[in-house]
Amino acid sequence: MVAVDLNGKALASQIRSEIAADVTAFSASTGVVPTLAAVLVGDDPGSQVYVRNKQRACQEAGISSILHRLPAETSEAELLNLIARLNADTQVHGILVQTPLPAHVDSARVLDAVAPLKDVDAFHPENVGLLVQGRPRFLPCTPHGIQQMLHRHGIAVSGRHVVVVGRSDIVGKPMANLFMQRTSPLGPEAANATVTVCHSRTVGLPEITRQADILVAAIGVPRFVSAAMVQPGATVIDVGISRTADGLVGDVDYAAVKQVAAHITPVPGGVGPMTVAMLLGNTLQAARIQCPAAA
Ligand code: NDP
Repeated sequence: MVAVDLNGKALASQIRSEIAADVTAFSASTGVVPTLAAVLVGDDPGSQVYVRNKQRACQEAGISSILHRLPAETSEAELLNLIARLNADTQVHGILVQTPLPAHVDSARVLDAVAPLKDVDAFHPENVGLLVQGRPRFLPCTPHGIQQMLHRHGIAVSGRHVVVVGRSDIVGKPMANLFMQRTSPLGPEAANATVTVCHSRTVGLPEITRQADILVAAIGVPRFVSAAMVQPGATVIDVGISRTADGLVGDVDYAAVKQVAAHITPVPGGVGPMTVAMLLGNTLQAARIQCPAAA
């Protein structure tokens, strides 16, 4: 079997067009332009690329984006001050703090300072709690992008065994949470999975990943998932992005796993573009929540 590529680039482009149409309708009826404030601290090259991509995507969708670029030596107090100002600014609907933040800054304290109604990354404990309870306000961008990708390719999740490798607050945990819910904004078929979460202390990882109907790798170790770790006919979602001498590389040994899986996401061009598209959707959602005329 040779796996079919799940093309995130093309799908994200289609979803971005749909969001652009929704933004046009929203702005026409309310007079409000959804606005995202992005905060970028320091000069991490990866972060700069991500923020640039997000800003470009906003622009194409009719969403206004304002970049606050701060030097690496910015203090935590200065950062908290900026976030307080953005929280209070009624022209700003969504706030994105690009991570990683410099080591001298307490990232959790900074991310917790973002007003929950403007938390378009869905990182705030209030939004995480709502998600866990099955009544999400914002869906976390990368996991929701994966859920959309499966749904729009007609790959049902309900009743299937999903194995998530990685338990970060950004990908692994919210991914498991989305899939284990009774339903989703895409309907019950996109949820109701039996979910196993693995991490660096998991014993017998290959035996577990081989049981997956849908395997999500969010590890950050280039080409970690080998063909021997994959059940023939499985769907393999590669979240990883590592910058190597060979360019951007995922967590999955793409060439080898493509020979056994039924579906696979490439890197680049798989999950990454979907993440950006979901951020746009959340920014529109934030504007709707905050704009009384839209109610
Ligand atoms: P983290 O470093 O926060 O988490 C990595 C997880 O992988 C941890 O839970 C860790 O386990 C686990 N892990 C590490 N090594 C192993 C191993 N040998 N066996 C099993 N589990 C292991 O990373 P993120 O979740 O933030 O990101 C993961 C990858 O996804 C990165 O490459 C990142 O760049 C990429 N990414 C891509 C996005 C996209 O849009 N495509 C968005 C966000 C991230 P433990 O908890 O025990 O340490």
